[in-house]
Amino acid sequence: MQALTNRVKTVSRKPMNFLERLYIPAIIQGMIITFSHIFKKNPTISYPEQTRPFSPVFRGLQILNRDEEGRENCTACGLCAVACPAEAITMEAAERQPGEEHLYREEKYAARYEINMLRCIFCGLCEEACPKDAIYLSETFTPADYQRKKFIYNKQELLIPHPKEDPEAYKKALGNRAKQQDSDTKN
Ligand code: SF4
Ligand code: SF4
Repeated sequence: MQALTNRVKTVSRKPMNFLERLYIPAIIQGMIITFSHIFKKNPTISYPEQTRPFSPVFRGLQILNRDEEGRENCTACGLCAVACPAEAITMEAAERQPGEEHLYREEKYAARYEINMLRCIFCGLCEEACPKDAIYLSETFTPADYQRKKFIYNKQELLIPHPKEDPEAYKKALGNRAKQQDSDTKN
């Protein structure tokens, strides 16, 4: 019969000799392979103490963005929810009241904004659909948990830290975007 690949090996059916019947050479050969691996670099990463470097296109947990004044960018237009193939996003819009201009950038804002991380497939379409740069996928994993309800992230959990109240946490949450913004400012 003609083989489809050249990986086929013919199995030898000749009777084993005395040494082969002792199995000692085979055991020694196996031990040599085992010991040769002992001094090799361990490929295991002890997460969460250690993390692998992310790929530049890694897409993780969503962040709801603020402007440089700390006002929420989201206007609750719903485009991200419409674009989401997993129907993971829910929101309720509200109107900005006089005196709330320091909280919300535009007249409308999301009074409630939720993402169900059990549904999310981290495709990034919500980020692409958003006309206000109000949502982006960060370089952070969604932390593991034992309860399903903990995977429904509300607005407070998704919002980026305030850039004026906590600039360090804000920059950390921006991740690669902070570097991008720095290089844009220099250019
Ligand atoms: S990343 Fe994709 S699946 Fe997840 S919320 Fe955004 S659009 Fe929906
Ligand atoms: S995150 Fe962007 S697309 Fe989604 S509701 Fe807010 S402004 Fe609209």
